[in-house]
This record gives sequence, C-alpha cells and structure tokens, in this order.
Amino acid sequence: MQEKQATIYLDNAATTPLDSKVLEAMLPYLKEQYGNASSIHSLGQKAREAVEKARKKVAFFLNCKESEVYFTPSATFSDNLAILGVVRAAQKGGIKPHIITSIIEHPAVLETYKILEKQGVEVTYLSVSKGGLVVIEEIEKAIKENTVLVSIMLANNEIGTIQPIAEIANLIKRFKIQDSRFKILFHTDAVQGANYLDLDVEKLGVDLLTLSGHKIYGPKGIGVLYVKQGTAIEPIIYGGHQEAGLIPGTENVANIVGLGKAIELVQSSKLKVQSLRKLRDKLIDGILKEIPQTFLNGSREARLPNNVNISFKGVEGEALLILLDQEGVAVSTGSACSSGSLEASHVLMALNVGNERAHSAIRFSLGKQTIEKEIAKVLEVLPEMVRHLRKISGFRL
Ligand SMILES: *Cc1c(COP(=O)(O)O)cnc(C)c1O
Repeated sequence: MQEKQATIYLDNAATTPLDSKVLEAMLPYLKEQYGNASSIHSLGQKAREAVEKARKKVAFFLNCKESEVYFTPSATFSDNLAILGVVRAAQKGGIKPHIITSIIEHPAVLETYKILEKQGVEVTYLSVSKGGLVVIEEIEKAIKENTVLVSIMLANNEIGTIQPIAEIANLIKRFKIQDSRFKILFHTDAVQGANYLDLDVEKLGVDLLTLSGHKIYGPKGIGVLYVKQGTAIEPIIYGGHQEAGLIPGTENVANIVGLGKAIELVQSSKLKVQSLRKLRDKLIDGILKEIPQTFLNGSREARLPNNVNISFKGVEGEALLILLDQEGVAVSTGSACSSGSLEASHVLMALNVGNERAHSAIRFSLGKQTIEKEIAKVLEVLPEMVRHLRKISGFRL
C-alpha cells in the first residue's frame, strides 16, 4: 500500500520541525566554520564565539548567568546528569541520598532512578491527582533529612499538565530556612514547557533545569542543563575540559548555534499562544461533542496550549493512529517512547483512568505551524474512523 506523507503534523510533543531560520543559522557551522571551539587559531575562535553567543541567548531566556548554562548532548543527558551528578556529589559528602519525584515523569528521569534504587538510593514516587497534578502537601510529607533532590517536570509530555513549580520551590525554601541541615536541590525537566511558559529560573526557584533543542524547532541531539552557581554536582562522563569539565567532549557547534537561534525564536512565537489555545480548544470541544464516549485525559485548566489527549472508548489507540496516518495526520498514542510496547502509558495509568481508557488514548500535540484548516480536517475525518473501529471491535454505545 502506498503510504501518504504526513501533511498534518500533530506530534509536536515528540519532536518539532526544524525552523528554517534555525537551519540557516546552523549551516555555516556545518560548512566553512568547522573549527573546534577549543582550538587557539582563528577558525577555532570563530567557533568559540558562536558557542558563547548561543550561551548568552539561553542565559537571557532563563534569566541566569552565562556560566550557569551547560550544553549537553540531549535532554535525556541533562536529566541523567542532574540526577546522577547530584547523587554522586551527596555521596561524596557522606550522605545516603533520598530523592523525591512523581510517577508521571519522563523515562529519562524514571529509568535513571531504577538504576539508582538498585544501588541503594531511596526514591519516593509521588502519585498525582485525577487531573495529573502533584499535590504540594504530599511533597511536604515526603521530605526527609537526607533528601538531596526533588525533581518534578514543568509540563508533562503526554497530557500537557503544568506542575506548580514555583510553589514547590517555595516549600523547599521554607524547609531550608527553618533548618540549615536540609540540603535539598530542586530540578525541573522543562522540555515541554519551553515554548509556552516563563522559564525565568528566579521565578521558578529551581537549582537545575533541563531543555531540549528539538522540542523548540531546533536540532535534535542538543540539550541544556541550567546549574545554579554553587550547586554540588559531579560529572557523569570523563574527558576534556569542555563545559567546565561537567560535560566533556568537543562541542557540537552547529547544534549549539541552532539551539541558541531556536531559543531566540521562542520569545517571538510566544505571542501566538492565544491562537494556539483556541485551536486546541476547538479540537477538544469538537471531539468531545461530536464523538460519544470520548474523554479528555489530564486537567483542562493546568494544561499546555498545544496538548490534546483524548481516550476513545472501545477503540485501540494504535489502530486509530494508523487510520489517521493514512489520511496524512500524524499523532501519537501516549508517549512515543512507549509505542511499540503493549504496556499502557504509565502517565495515563497514574491518572487511574483504567487500562481500557489508557489503551484508547490519542495525543494530538499542536505546533506553531498548525492552522485552523488542519484542525477542521481532523474533526471531519475522525468521527467516521472511530465509528468504523468501534464496529469492528463490537463496541456498543
Ligand atoms: C523529549 C523529552 C525528553 C528527552 O529529550 P531528548 O533531547 O530527546 O533526549 C525529556 N523530557 C521530556 C519531558 C521530553 O518531552
């Protein structure tokens, strides 16, 4: 069967298309400006200048010092470094570390804990409300004398729920003021929130923050870890002196330049958030109204302006994904990372919606390139697809 090229791209939470302005900014560093940013000669110095210019843009975006911005090979690496690096530093200081996190974190975070738990590190996994939000009081109860890290994502990649990061930061601060023995650091994976939310680290009150290039219309294979000055963190790989020795390895100059440009563009595209939210609501309301037995997963209020995650009762999510793809509509079931496995999404299961609803979920994630006509087209083709699949599976309304 001839496969149609996906023309309606509603999978921007998995990755975003490269902005042509980003590509343009990168190209010189893939061609004539090929210098190693650590080389002393002028070609090297050109590369160094480009790296530092990008760092300045990220620092401006995060409202932090340039020396607090570290370029990494991916957000997965940033998450790993934040967690493993803080744990190693604590262990060096003679502490037996305890970590607090939520059960709906990204695998880049959760899989790291699995390894640490095998090594005797204690991890508390907070459950979430029906709407997919952590409960502040639960964090308060979980904090112990040896808690070295709290890591809660800013916005969820599957259901788009936005966590109260500044509130959590205030709680941690209170503990530290009351008793100086508390050495809790606060990390947030801000990958999904970067396009839409204020990432001022002062306002968020975090010590560590993760970003990814390819979720903000930049290149794949580049991330950022913000590390507040004075934070006790150890490297997790070893080599040269790059990135103050915390992330050794020759800088990926083109990708760093691309990320810098992408960050700069985020600031201008934030103006379009209102119209994106309108499109999101059109899609949510259209589906819930036109197709019976459909359910929005995750809080409607504390939600990213581009995320629509809906369960279609009596329908296998994967089957609907394939029908949509044949019409040129690209979506996800749960997270892209768990597709290919038959396990239901850990995020949807955490909402207590049950196995069936978790397996019948589709994530539509809109982007800055999404237009009204595309949403209208989806709303036009979807009801018949769902009717068809329900008929096959023998589901009765
Ligand atoms: C995509 C994503 C990551 C991983 O980013 P990479 O740069 O692909 O490693 C981490 N956390 C969240 C929330 C994500 O959505």
